Amino acid sequence: MSSLLPLFLKGKVVKGFGRGSKDLGCPTANYPLEVVQSLPKNLDPGVYYGWAQVDSQPVYKMVANIGWCPFYQNKQMSVETHIMHKFEKDFYESNLKICVVGYLRPEKNFNSLDDLIDAIKQDIVNAETRLNENEAMKLKADVFFD
Ligand code: ADP
Ligand code: MG
Repeated sequence: MSSLLPLFLKGKVVKGFGRGSKDLGCPTANYPLEVVQSLPKNLDPGVYYGWAQVDSQPVYKMVANIGWCPFYQNKQMSVETHIMHKFEKDFYESNLKICVVGYLRPEKNFNSLDDLIDAIKQDIVNAETRLNENEAMKLKADVFFD
């Protein structure tokens, strides 16, 4: 699995399925189907950390959920990227580049919304730490980003 990383993806930001990520304080930018279909077939579903860039804005830290998408009867994966930056406005239709650097944890179901929110907060803390490591920092400067 780790040989598949780092993984570089780019594509347009599309509307997600309105699962209310924003209400959880955690908006997630979705990729269209063709980007998802380009993923390596043996990539493990789960929560990943890495770098993200919207158009030619600065490169920010991100956490991404790469998982099975209920909307397509779990036949398609989805990639949902939460960028660790406060944006002034939404950026649907913008170009989003991500570098998936490492794996944090498998997907799981939560008993309550509070448990889910706690897990997301912990993911963000863990991503923050891992992205400050030297190997991860090098990827922030990759020529892939503008
Ligand atoms: P959707 O179901 O359309 O994905 P979300 O509630 O998950 O709706 O919100 C995602 C949208 O919020 C993104 O497509 C983007 O335009 C916007 N957005 C604003 N700030 C962020 C951020 N920090 N990370 C990701 N998306 C963000
Ligand atoms: Mg979303």
